[in-house]
Amino acid sequence: MNYLSALAFKKIKILFLIPFFVSCMQGESSLYDFAMGTAFSITLYKHGQYKVLDEIFTNIKTIENLMSVNIPSSDVSRINAAAGIEAVHVNEKTFKVIERAIYFAYLSGGAFDPSIGALTSLWGIGNDNRNDSRNDYHRIPLQDDIDKILSLVNWRNIVLDSENNTVFLTQEGMALDLGAITKGYTVDRTVDIIRNAGIKRAKIDIGGEIYMLGEKTDKTPWRVGIQDPKGVHGGIIGFIQTGETSVVTSGIYERFFEKDGIHYHHILNPFNGYPADNELLSVTLTASSAMDADALSTAIFVLGYENAGFLFETQPGIAAIFVFKDLNIKMSGDIDFTLTNKAFNSAMQE
Ligand code: ADP
Ligand code: MG
Repeated sequence: MNYLSALAFKKIKILFLIPFFVSCMQGESSLYDFAMGTAFSITLYKHGQYKVLDEIFTNIKTIENLMSVNIPSSDVSRINAAAGIEAVHVNEKTFKVIERAIYFAYLSGGAFDPSIGALTSLWGIGNDNRNDSRNDYHRIPLQDDIDKILSLVNWRNIVLDSENNTVFLTQEGMALDLGAITKGYTVDRTVDIIRNAGIKRAKIDIGGEIYMLGEKTDKTPWRVGIQDPKGVHGGIIGFIQTGETSVVTSGIYERFFEKDGIHYHHILNPFNGYPADNELLSVTLTASSAMDADALSTAIFVLGYENAGFLFETQPGIAAIFVFKDLNIKMSGDIDFTLTNKAFNSAMQE
């Protein structure tokens, strides 16, 4: 199905607007593809929306080309190459994302830190180009290297000039990595495109970052499955029922390797340089902005359950499902979660 639709979309791009098969007949228009190192799928609940899908596709690629650390000509790569040397002029989209990322770095006391690039390259876990032979994905860095690199991780050393849209990293070797916020940003911009096109209902999934737009035809709530952080991909612990919202998860299962029985994953603790290690397996947030939820879910995952409480006070619209290593589940805020996986225990709403 994915493959066929991807094929269908490519055909459309080549042959100019040949109707989708399969999904068109069901009153839907869908797009499946791959970008930012992850699969994405967009379903518009209206038939024949090829132009909108084309605009969405082009926009996703534009964002990737601006913000990926794996594309040498991207804004982020150019900023990193000029670290300690000079300020770099960037596209206003990139500038806005970095500005928002710095806000969340400030808000989370540095638990979320977009200047974590040198550390993510050292570990090589979160890199979206796994075929890159320069990276050994099963290597634990030397403590000395971690210590050296940690001095290059500090969001306060990102200098923004909003009049000229320039970004300067003050230290040589310092690097941005916007991997914890760009997918959410992309989801939000996709929502904008869909709304502007006058489409009322849609489901967006960019690498597991979801946005349910509008309401179902029969007015029943959307159901969104919550990934089982210990299970196979696609396995769920339960589902939430919700109106329009984004649903974003940060967890230990997305990208990782195991060595000597230890699970090393891609969300790094900027304070000690190691994968965040606390009582959590995953945290799922619902929020009106997927970008905010993306940055916050990473921050909360780094901080852990007890220490992240203050973030909820500053962000009233946000609700969360925490999945713990002891298989307990806790909720925070207004969220309608139904547990279906008997291996887990759901505690009372906080
Ligand atoms: P996912 O990519 O699975 O959705 P996240 O949104 O939590 O998960 O983003 C993780 C990515 O963000 C990593 O792959 C890495 O590029 C980057 N990253 C890792 N740790 C941090 C951190 N503490 N602050 C900001 N970015 C981080
Ligand atoms: Mg994130």
